[in-house]
Amino acid sequence: MHTPPPSLIGLNTAQCVELATQFGAPAYRGRQLAHQLYQSGSSDFSEMSDLPRQFRSWLAENWVVSPLTVVQHQRSTDHVDKLLVHNGDEQVYECVLLPYEDRVSCCLSTQVGCPMGCTFCATGMGGFDRNLTTGEIVAQYLALQALSARRISHIVFMGMGEPLLNLGQLLPAIEIFRNEIGLSARHLTISTVGLVPQIRELAELKIPIHLALSLHSPFDEVRGRLMPVNHKWPVAEVVQTMRDYQRATGRKVTFEYLLIDELNDTVEQARALAHLIKGFPCFVNLIPFNWVDTGNGFRRPTRERVQAFRQVLQSQGINVTERVERGHDIAAACGQLAGQHSGKFAKRRSLSALPQSPA
Ligand code: SAH
Ligand code: SF4
Repeated sequence: MHTPPPSLIGLNTAQCVELATQFGAPAYRGRQLAHQLYQSGSSDFSEMSDLPRQFRSWLAENWVVSPLTVVQHQRSTDHVDKLLVHNGDEQVYECVLLPYEDRVSCCLSTQVGCPMGCTFCATGMGGFDRNLTTGEIVAQYLALQALSARRISHIVFMGMGEPLLNLGQLLPAIEIFRNEIGLSARHLTISTVGLVPQIRELAELKIPIHLALSLHSPFDEVRGRLMPVNHKWPVAEVVQTMRDYQRATGRKVTFEYLLIDELNDTVEQARALAHLIKGFPCFVNLIPFNWVDTGNGFRRPTRERVQAFRQVLQSQGINVTERVERGHDIAAACGQLAGQHSGKFAKRRSLSALPQSPA
């Protein structure tokens, strides 16, 4: 098995100081190293000219700066950048830069593939390879920041994988985003399929991270067809857990609702959803299905059906947003990150990059 050298990206200041001390340098050299990694964005030892050459050579014997190699960089017609990256093996994953007028956001992966098997999801259909390391999670942000003249202030963990299955690596990454890079926890969004024990674990930390649950139906029968996880943690239990998370952290939560034509986009389900979450500090984010060839015949609903669903919720006083779709021509939307690639890295199943159904 390929074992890449460890990367300095992923270490916090205390760990960098420890390295400096091991080498016999004063503690401030470790702080300088952390500054190079997270403030200056150095991706190579040669860029760290304020550090003594001997310290750099010593580090280079056992460490690399970044664990990422970019395989492909795509830019969409609407200015979305998508990077396809790997760490010296054939396990390719993706991250996306999303500039908006008022902020710059990015969408990061937490796993290569995903084991949750949601039936509408390109990542899920490709199976699971492995968890990403803290360094691999943080390095995606830094690689995207290097492409952006504006500072990336927001992160959504909505790329490949289920973030709460990789809390062991994600939590130290979040610590780096907050303490080393200086992002607000309020600007970090974790999207989850709905793993009850892990949501509880996160709630106990009381970090004001924005949590989004992929709900996709208020009915167990429909949700179970879309998301196998529902057999383990059904709607009522996971929604209650979100209420508890909201109370513990004081943060409004989001319910993501993927709309699939004539499956979960009925007025009946809109009413049941409104009933389920009424009076609770939350948003509903509607996501019209991004077409991927699931083999299930899933289609994107018409504008009229999306509007009708939205109106039912709004008439019940629910805050509704609709996911702004970006990067269609490069398949950069959430749920389309399937590790599409070619040639040497064509290990994972490549799915159609068609942006949507001919609805
Ligand atoms: N595993 C996490 C985060 C990654 S998926 C989760 O499931 O929440 C990010 C979001 O994209 C989820 O809300 C997911 O349901 C949605 N998604 C997956 N496939 C999609 C598709 N084909 N069209 C639109 N959204 C999709
Ligand atoms: Fe995994 Fe999320 Fe895709 Fe489900 S929707 S398979 S949890 S990435």
